Amino acid sequence: MALIVQKYGGTSVADPDRIRACADNVAITKRRGNDVIVVVSAMGKATDNLIALADQVATNQSGREMDMLLTTGERQTAALITMALADRGIEAISYTGSQVGIITDTAHRKAKILEVKGDRVRASLAAGKVCVIAGFQGTSTEREITTMGRGASDLTASALAQAMDADACEIYTDVTGVFTADPRIVPQARKLEKIHFDEMLEMAGAGSKVLALRSVEFARNHDVPLHVRSAFTWEPGTLVSNEEPSVEDPIISGVVTDMTEAKVTVLGVPDKPGVSAALFEPLAAANVNVDMIVQNTSTDGTTDISFTMPVADMAQSESIVQRVAGEIGATDVTHDADIAKVSLVGAGMKSSPGIAAKMFRVLADEDVNIQMISTSTIRVSVILPASDMERAARALHSAFGLDSGAAYSAPLPERR
Ligand code: ASP
Ligand code: MG
Repeated sequence: MALIVQKYGGTSVADPDRIRACADNVAITKRRGNDVIVVVSAMGKATDNLIALADQVATNQSGREMDMLLTTGERQTAALITMALADRGIEAISYTGSQVGIITDTAHRKAKILEVKGDRVRASLAAGKVCVIAGFQGTSTEREITTMGRGASDLTASALAQAMDADACEIYTDVTGVFTADPRIVPQARKLEKIHFDEMLEMAGAGSKVLALRSVEFARNHDVPLHVRSAFTWEPGTLVSNEEPSVEDPIISGVVTDMTEAKVTVLGVPDKPGVSAALFEPLAAANVNVDMIVQNTSTDGTTDISFTMPVADMAQSESIVQRVAGEIGATDVTHDADIAKVSLVGAGMKSSPGIAAKMFRVLADEDVNIQMISTSTIRVSVILPASDMERAARALHSAFGLDSGAAYSAPLPERR
């Protein structure tokens, strides 16, 4: 008998029909003789709606109260699926993250998992029950309710799979798997049968929304293979695992596009030890997720520093940077939210030189002006004007041999 963790994302459980469909899938899995742990997201846009609601009643929202509010979304789905399972003659019980002992640190809205106790899950499974767990949440070492960041139900799923030593962790979503590009932007995108954790990690870091970054990180570090698949078509999806790519696999696995970042530039920064620390320490302290950083070599004793961060953190970053710029004697601070990041990701890059050069050539031929560049061993990312993103992504997808030959045309529900 296998233990299977099944995570259902927001669109998969967006309405009563969808909840019943997911309950059917759980029931089938259970009746095949498996033990099943179900992890759920909030229904559809429930989390966004709760955030909007909070915005309407208060300008200052404490992390603690936001977490009290946001965790209700997942709790609702968990109870509803459990009822639907009972209707199908399947014994099931719902639990909050706190009830199953998902212990986190105290960083509200961005909490990290410290430990998964899971005693009640073990006991319920032993009693033959399906456990339905509200994703995205835990309880802190100070016994406060916490959430672990947008999209973190994936993290709940991989953490439980690891803690319970599950045989499989299935992530049900509204797309049929991981694609070579976002099919809404690159119609020629193809579904990948498998992908290495390292590539998935780079894709998530580069802005792919299929799996939340921290869940991939966790799954990789604990070697929990993830099967990303559709709760709409139920077809086999993409296996994300530690399996090394073979020589026949393409050098580039995907083109990732991201419009969620903004750029801040600090001009005329004195070129001396300590200025970067002075700039980035307060940003780190404010939990701003700085992504790319570019600093020029100075010619006249001053330099410019540019960095990107989530648009959502821009206002906060700017006020911090304005203050520090004054302190360190920089001349000016500018910002630009009209940017996009386009990344090429592929494990084959390690052994294949010239990928970056080819990427820049393709962009040059498209007359796209590159603003920033950053690389890892298996990724090359560029920042470019938002209006050029689609054209750049399509050209790169085609130039690196990823086009499917048939435009992707399956219906694509809107993704959160
Ligand atoms: N409902 C939460 C969110 O929207 C968590 C999740 O769906 O994974 O971010
Ligand atoms: Mg999600």
